[in-house]
Amino acid sequence: MKTKYIRNFAIIAHIDHGKSTLADRIMELTQTVSQRESSDQLLDNMEVEQAHGVTVKSRTVRNFYQGDDGQEYEYNFIDTPGHVDFSYEVSKSLAASDGAILLVDATQGVQAQTVANLRLALKNHLTIIPVINKIDNAAANVQATEEQIRQLRPEFAQMPILKISAKTGQNVHQVLEAIYQRIPAPVTTAASPLKALVFDSQYDSYKGVIAYIRIFDGQLQDSQKLQLMQQKVNFKAQEIGIFTPNMKKTAALNAGEVGYVITGIKDVGSVQVGDTLTSADQPTSQALASFQPARSMVYAGFYPKDGTSYAALKEAISKLALNDSSFQYLAEESEALGPGFRCGFLGIFHLQIIRERLLKEYQVEVLTTAPNATYHVYLKKPLVNQEYLTITNPVKFPDFSEIDYVTESYVKATITTPNNYLGDIMKLATQHDGEMIELSNQQELVVITYKMPVSEIAYDFFNALKAITHGYATLDTEFLDFELVDVVKIQIQINYAPVDALDIIVPRPKAAQTAKQLVQKMKYTVPRRLYPMPVQAIVENKSIARIDVPPLRKNAAVNGEKRSISKKQQLLRRQNINKRKAAQSDIKLPQSVFDAILNLN
Ligand code: GDP
Ligand code: MG
Repeated sequence: MKTKYIRNFAIIAHIDHGKSTLADRIMELTQTVSQRESSDQLLDNMEVEQAHGVTVKSRTVRNFYQGDDGQEYEYNFIDTPGHVDFSYEVSKSLAASDGAILLVDATQGVQAQTVANLRLALKNHLTIIPVINKIDNAAANVQATEEQIRQLRPEFAQMPILKISAKTGQNVHQVLEAIYQRIPAPVTTAASPLKALVFDSQYDSYKGVIAYIRIFDGQLQDSQKLQLMQQKVNFKAQEIGIFTPNMKKTAALNAGEVGYVITGIKDVGSVQVGDTLTSADQPTSQALASFQPARSMVYAGFYPKDGTSYAALKEAISKLALNDSSFQYLAEESEALGPGFRCGFLGIFHLQIIRERLLKEYQVEVLTTAPNATYHVYLKKPLVNQEYLTITNPVKFPDFSEIDYVTESYVKATITTPNNYLGDIMKLATQHDGEMIELSNQQELVVITYKMPVSEIAYDFFNALKAITHGYATLDTEFLDFELVDVVKIQIQINYAPVDALDIIVPRPKAAQTAKQLVQKMKYTVPRRLYPMPVQAIVENKSIARIDVPPLRKNAAVNGEKRSISKKQQLLRRQNINKRKAAQSDIKLPQSVFDAILNLN
């Protein structure tokens, strides 16, 4: 197909506004899949996606469309993940597109994610086609929605705005026409050396990494010798092809097209989303701009829970990581929990998704420790060969007596919200050390930008934000820099035994209050024993909070049998000594203890 008949586009929308339904309808109308074949929500085939109603992993399909102008067009639909916690993936998918359909549900109007996604699309210089969906719905308010869309951007004011029902198919034909009429064909230089963007990847245990690519210049041929410029990895294309939506082998991919390369590479780290793919023999002189590998923002420990074995957890985690290159893991060992893994995530929602995927796809239940940010710890006694220690696990945080100073990762947090929640959000952000950078209005929506330490976002910020806005606000974070912070480690002792897995790092001014809340929560979540157990929070060798976990009411020694008081006491005492000894080596902590810190659920 000539480049001028190719269109690469994405659909962007707030969650549930009909993106997947429209994608299915487009495939149907272009006969990419027959109506019978198309079970509902063809693209969202991961179980977690269906449960959450979100698209976690990007998917891509090539459709052929016979335009009313008599010309056949190649439409490459590039699916983007539906959640802003995955804005890294959203951005790369959008970078592979030239235009985007901005879909807005007429029963809800413009929502936070409409604005957040539009912002990402504009950053990638995409041509936007605004479309109103669900006009068949009795609750639709088409006119008000149109008004809202027109006010989003000056260029929308005069633009025709399509009104469709993705469900019934009404006017979807107009969308198909608008795609070739309004979205520009890819701008390419076919004669130049190969230059392609890796915008997604997937792992197959037989084939290795499968890279999803958009070709900007040149041509890609089967069996061609290739190079990933950033990672400096060379390989030979094992197979190249297109998505129909299943993978279909082709002999060549041309400038402007979208498809896949089976790399044969077994090391997932070598194929990074955002990297530039070029010819090994005749490389392009300039890589594509703005390569930034996915950066783990939040870390947490994953440990086998109850019935799960370490081996099963290990297998599940390694398989999952191959399908999600932004999920990272390393084996670690906890005194309290035994062998497990330290895992890195893009954000809290990512952590939740991974945890659920482990359960649903691999039947593996994990115990998750409280998440934390990354710290750079500078020691009083300088290190050899390195400036600072990179700490991603609070257990490894050095003793305070050795520390000179600590820096922590900061992010730019962009919150998009209906304006009636603005006051509450500002209060929340202030409580979490947010420093406001910018505030702008989009009619009933407000976009506020804060500079915040990752640790403040890592604990309960996301959930608190969702709670106070009833899910209406979106959060998009971007790494800024490491900055000086005054933090301390809180260690928890249960029955005088330190439980390493409960270590957390907090700002010094908040230590006392956090410690108090923490032990208070422990009071109700730590499994009771026959005797009271002290729970203490220790900071810099001092106990700053303490509470006693009440004993179980039923006591074997005094239960039913008649014994003398002194005998009873004697027995109790002996029992206590024995039990305490056992307890120190045998504190089995349920997830609820970690959730007390985590607030994940
Ligand atoms: P996504 O989250 O943007 O991918 O949204 P989905 O495509 O999953 O749609 C969310 C819900 O809205 C589903 O229950 C769809 O059946 C429904 N839906 C999508 N488009 C329409 C439409 O045009 N009319 C009506 N009435 N419902 C729709
Ligand atoms: Mg969807």
